[in-house]
Amino acid sequence: MPKAAIAIHGGAGTILRSQMTPDLEREYRGGLDAGLKAGWLILERGGSALDAVEAAVCSLEDFPLFNAGRGSVFTHEGKQEMDASIMDGSTLKAGAVAFVRNIRNPIRLARLVMERTEHVLLAGEGAQHFAEQMGIPTEPDEYFFTEHRWLQLQDAIAEGRIQLDHASATPEEGIVGTALAERSDTFAKPLGTVGAVACDSRGRLAAATSTGGMTNKKFGRVGDTPLIGAGTYADESVAVSCTGHGEYFMLGVSAYDLAARMKYKGLSLSEAASEAVDRLSEIKGEGGLIAVDSAGNISLEFNSEGMYRGYKTSGGDQTIAIYM
Ligand code: ASP
Repeated sequence: MPKAAIAIHGGAGTILRSQMTPDLEREYRGGLDAGLKAGWLILERGGSALDAVEAAVCSLEDFPLFNAGRGSVFTHEGKQEMDASIMDGSTLKAGAVAFVRNIRNPIRLARLVMERTEHVLLAGEGAQHFAEQMGIPTEPDEYFFTEHRWLQLQDAIAEGRIQLDHASATPEEGIVGTALAERSDTFAKPLGTVGAVACDSRGRLAAATSTGGMTNKKFGRVGDTPLIGAGTYADESVAVSCTGHGEYFMLGVSAYDLAARMKYKGLSLSEAASEAVDRLSEIKGEGGLIAVDSAGNISLEFNSEGMYRGYKTSGGDQTIAIYM
């Protein structure tokens, strides 16, 4: 019988012990623990992997320190535009939304796209209309407002740069200033997102990812998170959720890259995860991924300095970690 297992992440990037206070670390660990519990509760009762990843991501979206749902970063215009996707490996169905606003839990809307439409990805105004029709819970702007995100935006505007989450605020360490077009050698680096992957007791797999993108983002920028195959993927053998510099996950089609390495090269989960992250490094991308296979094995791989992460299995393994 497969092991039931769930893994979650709360973003990858320059997360240094030296920049963390004990109180803040406790808060982050509490947020991860709540997300893990929300998903595990479902698996433990024999529920589906799909329900488990949705519940885990909802909990992480509700936690104000992560850059998704409540706590999402601000765009240049001082708004929150959120992206999310979910995939059910047992049916190979997926749903996703891009730049939606005021939706309490974008991952729920992504699931409705999967279950109630013939489409995979809905964006912007159309996605908002769909949300209205579905009667999905919305919240006023104040719900999404967090002071630390607002201050990040003011800093970013004052310095004329696009501010990254979980990244040090110096250009040398990866923040790209004002116009993307001014720098053809690189992209802006948004880091910080939430995700979950799960294997249920029947060996069914699912993956879900949700993000607010990056502070001071402009031009309707959308990253890898709502793109099936780039930020999220699940089939009968593996479920993957990515976090990090989205442009590179798009170019490397990273979530599917991992799945393809298992399928076509016959690699194990951990070999495929490590090769997929090596490939990301080769193309100069930064971040990480969480993955689970149909036997309930888990892999958490990243090439950044840290990744908020955790997992739990019916075999009794459980862990929450932040740094390298
Ligand atoms: N990958 C997300 C994006 O590029 C951000 C993140 O993972 O933090 O929008």
